[in-house]
Amino acid sequence: MNAPLREPSFRESVDLMFNHAARLMDLSPGLEEKIRVCNSTYVVRFGVRLRGAIHTFTGYRSVHSEHMEPVKGGIRYSLAVNQDEVEALAALMTYKCALVEVPFGGSKGGLCLEPRDWNEHEMELITRRFTYELAKRDLIHPSQNVPAPDMGTSEREMAWIVDQYRRMNTTDINASACVTGKPLNAGGIHGRVEATGRGVQYALREFFRHKEDVAKAGLDGGLEGKRVIVQGLGNVGFHAAKFLSEEDGCLVTAVIERDGAVSNPEGLSIEFLKAHIGACGGVKGFPGGTYHEDGSDWLEADCDILIPAAMESVINLGNAARVQAPLIIEAANGPITSGADEILRKKGAVIIPDMYANAGGVTVSYFEWVKNLSHIRFGRMQRRQEEAQHALLVQELDRVAKTAGLKHGLSENFKEQYVRGAGELELVRSGLDDTMRTAYQSMREVWHSRKDVEDLRTAAYLVSIARVAGSYRSKGL
Ligand code: NAD
Repeated sequence: MNAPLREPSFRESVDLMFNHAARLMDLSPGLEEKIRVCNSTYVVRFGVRLRGAIHTFTGYRSVHSEHMEPVKGGIRYSLAVNQDEVEALAALMTYKCALVEVPFGGSKGGLCLEPRDWNEHEMELITRRFTYELAKRDLIHPSQNVPAPDMGTSEREMAWIVDQYRRMNTTDINASACVTGKPLNAGGIHGRVEATGRGVQYALREFFRHKEDVAKAGLDGGLEGKRVIVQGLGNVGFHAAKFLSEEDGCLVTAVIERDGAVSNPEGLSIEFLKAHIGACGGVKGFPGGTYHEDGSDWLEADCDILIPAAMESVINLGNAARVQAPLIIEAANGPITSGADEILRKKGAVIIPDMYANAGGVTVSYFEWVKNLSHIRFGRMQRRQEEAQHALLVQELDRVAKTAGLKHGLSENFKEQYVRGAGELELVRSGLDDTMRTAYQSMREVWHSRKDVEDLRTAAYLVSIARVAGSYRSKGL
């Protein structure tokens, strides 16, 4: 985990990857600089009276690019939060939104605290106060800046944020669009909690649809039977591991958490493991696998697909040469440093980059924001009408089939499945799947068509920088 000293910071790492791609483009030097730099970072120190004393907390909200507004990006709670990290994450948001064609600029926020040090009531007081500080400067606002969950935050914090914003803006009819990732009863959308992990699954499915790409990683066949190692069984890692193992036949052979790793060559039961972590605070003692105290060693273990889904810089100059996975999908933001990226590329590993791999969250956040602004659930107007149309068709086909001699007509199972209209969850999944497929194809086209583009990350940067540059140019810059 400890990166050697000569490793660049997270933000420098993102900038180095940006520069590598920008060198392959024909951007005016001024525009290149304009896109790369972070527009602004607001740092706030505020006090909250807790346990009989005033405690001071430091929070950040960075706006990387306002070429489109609102700007969008999660709020992270962690002791490791700092300006460099928040700016790096804000930059990634800009590129991510452009890549998946979500009409937002990039932003990110963070609060320097360990959520486990405070009880629920204290967390609410801290979150409400942080929201107040950001909202009064329009750094939380439905048309200016829309946060979402990230590491250490969840639906719970988003519900407090929207409530606090509403109290401060009682006549704003669009108040619920000030933040995404909210619980359903506070204006959320079906499928948001699972969205980032679901997006990782859809990204892998799309990758495995292209035999040529699979071969570049030295693999063959589909997802069925592939051995997967996941780091971090939080929101993103849990959903990715669950869907890949339950729906695609992958074997999750090891999970790395804060307190170590647990492995099982036959595949771990992700639901049981998650319940064990919830009850015991870590993977140690899980009856369905073997426990290993040094978790980070398992980043280097033999597997087909490695999914770092915890935090940044976990694959660095210190361990990259020993990482054996031929395919790495960056579910976390920035898990591979720029130096490690180069080592892995030279070894022939294929890396599906973060700005694409974890874009499922912001994609479904976009759907949630649209739902909030339109004040109606997706599918509410069409669902029953579609069902009636389908029922009509099924009735007629059934009649024709019986007339043609098919004794029982169409099967009941087919009739039931065909008639059922799409609800919000089905529509959200369909929109997410379409987004992940389309974005992969746009990266892939660049990857395969240009000799000077060796990897998917550079291709992703080329696609997104070109789109951001196009927006700036149309603004006359
Ligand atoms: P989370 O807080 O829900 O989960 C993080 C998990 O990683 C936890 O289970 C934690 O115990 C584990 N972890 C932390 N440090 C670890 C370490 N050193 N070794 C092993 N495990 C460790 O966070 P999340 O929302 O799942 O986010 C994870 C990553 O995905 C972050 O990089 C985040 O920026 C990125 N991401 C999240 C979303 C989202 O929608 N939540 C969207 C895009 C990207």
